[in-house]
Amino acid sequence: MFNQGSVFARAFLYLTLYSICVISIIDKLNFDKEEDVTMRQTIALTVPYSNTHRTAEENLGLGYLAATLRLAGFRVEIIDGWLENLSHEEIVNCVVALPNLLLVGISAYRSSLENAARLVRDIKNRISIPIVAGGYGPTFFDEDFLAAGFDYVLRGEGEKSLSTLACVLSESGLILENVPGISMLSMGKVVRGSMSHCVEHLDSLPFPARDTVYSTIHSKNPISVSTSRGCLGSCLFCAVSAFARQHDGTRWRERSVKNIVNELEMLHQKYGAKCFKFVDDSFLEPPRGEIWAESFSNELYLRGLTEISFRTQVRADRLTNKIVEILSGCGWFATGLGVENWSVSALKRMNKGASIADNFLAMEYLERHGVYVQMGMILFDWDTTLVELKENLGILKDLSWPVTKGIFTETYVSAGTPNERLLLSRSDVQQKRSVLGHLEYRPCVPEVDVVYEALRLWHRSHSSVYDHAINPITAPKAIDRSMYRKYHDICRRLYSMDLVFFERVLEMAEHGISKLDVQTETMVQVSDFQTDYERIEREIVLLDQVCGIGYSAYPNPFLGET
Ligand code: SF4
Repeated sequence: MFNQGSVFARAFLYLTLYSICVISIIDKLNFDKEEDVTMRQTIALTVPYSNTHRTAEENLGLGYLAATLRLAGFRVEIIDGWLENLSHEEIVNCVVALPNLLLVGISAYRSSLENAARLVRDIKNRISIPIVAGGYGPTFFDEDFLAAGFDYVLRGEGEKSLSTLACVLSESGLILENVPGISMLSMGKVVRGSMSHCVEHLDSLPFPARDTVYSTIHSKNPISVSTSRGCLGSCLFCAVSAFARQHDGTRWRERSVKNIVNELEMLHQKYGAKCFKFVDDSFLEPPRGEIWAESFSNELYLRGLTEISFRTQVRADRLTNKIVEILSGCGWFATGLGVENWSVSALKRMNKGASIADNFLAMEYLERHGVYVQMGMILFDWDTTLVELKENLGILKDLSWPVTKGIFTETYVSAGTPNERLLLSRSDVQQKRSVLGHLEYRPCVPEVDVVYEALRLWHRSHSSVYDHAINPITAPKAIDRSMYRKYHDICRRLYSMDLVFFERVLEMAEHGISKLDVQTETMVQVSDFQTDYERIEREIVLLDQVCGIGYSAYPNPFLGET
């Protein structure tokens, strides 16, 4: 037992030790700050504003790059112009003000090339600095990005190649061509380095930097988490598998359950995060099955993460009732499901792994366990037939659970996909390269083309309402589940209105009504439904206000010209 004197003595000792610790921590912080400014080289990672109908989300790719570069000893600043709603000038000012700048990295889509090119021009007007582009767009359009003024493009996954590029630039004597996945100009010609390397063991990566986490939480967005990368499917239209072919290594890689839950636990404890978006291209691939679902669920339970919710993207042919039951019991509340089409022949043309039966079963399991489904659809390609459209209409009318982004959906022919090669080889298909980089085409069957054009006109006339209504569901916004249900109900109403119009147009096409007459009828229908869409939009705005959600997006640029 201690006497009073010894208690005071110990208290004094603890206080002294505590003060020494605090002072040394402060010293360390000051030292780090000092070192940041005067010693360490800085890399700016930025995202320009994007002119798409999508709303900004946390850029997890930049988070991974920042964490990897920091581990390699660089100072990194993330300036996410899209998420933080920064003007062009603000982004430029932030970048050029950074001390000891070594390199600027810009993450861009092909559709945001114009904004990215402006950034390059205005940064280079103020400082002399190498600028590199990365992401899906630059990977498949390296020539366009180099022509727009970028010094380098890094194709494929960026963690290894960007760290290598930063090391090469910071240490003279190393050779740029040795950076895996690099593209650059030499004597006016594009020179490409070797294939880029992907990170085979995802657990070896540091957790992504969360510099923009407060903006994410503030805008009621979920916290993005990547539990795997890639997909084992070989759908001909898919940019994910085309991107995977840019690397050596396995086509689907996963993190261990412990590693995933460690990150979720950290995000929950540090930021209070409860709503997550698993941004995996395909959340469930073998060996993930019922045993995996059980162990994931158990681990969440053991860590006390019993109130989290998460959204995924899954393949129908990977689901069983048991998997859905287990995962919905530990927070799985919404998913994207790539059904694509309800016709056997259309699925075959896409080389889709899932069958119609798989799609039906998946839909049944998900509805049974209350997991909301945003059904990915591709109604048209250049070989679509009227029979296929009728098959789709028949089944779509019977489904009572999923929501979609609208009735007009078509194969998006991205660069680098097998579909692009297929389409280019078809001299009988009317096609052209769009200014956004993908191929545009018309369906070959004239009656199908009539329906295609009518649905496109119909959808484009109301596209802002569809995009606005589905935004809280796709994001998904971190809102009360009852509010989520209200957005879902609105999307279901839009779904029903779409089908009424689809049926009418299909009938007209089957009866050989001319394209011009169908278009005239479409405009009449658009006008007749105008007040309904306006009323729905007012409802969405009201819901947004109740939920505290802001909405800011451009019109969908992929719906063609008026
Ligand atoms: S299943 Fe989905 S992610 Fe996988 S290849 Fe097909 S479309 Fe792409």
